[in-house]
Amino acid sequence: MRVSADRTLCVGAGLCALTAPGVFDQDDDGVVTVLRSDPAGDDRPAVREAGMLCPSRAVQVVEADT
Ligand code: SF4
Repeated sequence: MRVSADRTLCVGAGLCALTAPGVFDQDDDGVVTVLRSDPAGDDRPAVREAGMLCPSRAVQVVEADT
């Protein structure tokens, strides 16, 4: 799995950081930062959920480990 986030799309809703705090954080302006682009197995369900919850579709999740 690979995770990225488009900071230009992020509206700072914070759902990603609440849902998967080990993978997402927000900077001082509330804009998403990705802490880990290759989340561990335990974090993956939360990352998928964060990708679905993001209201601006800023979070991209690619399942393949390539
Ligand atoms: S859920 Fe989406 S809009 Fe909200 S902080 Fe995360 S990336 Fe930004």
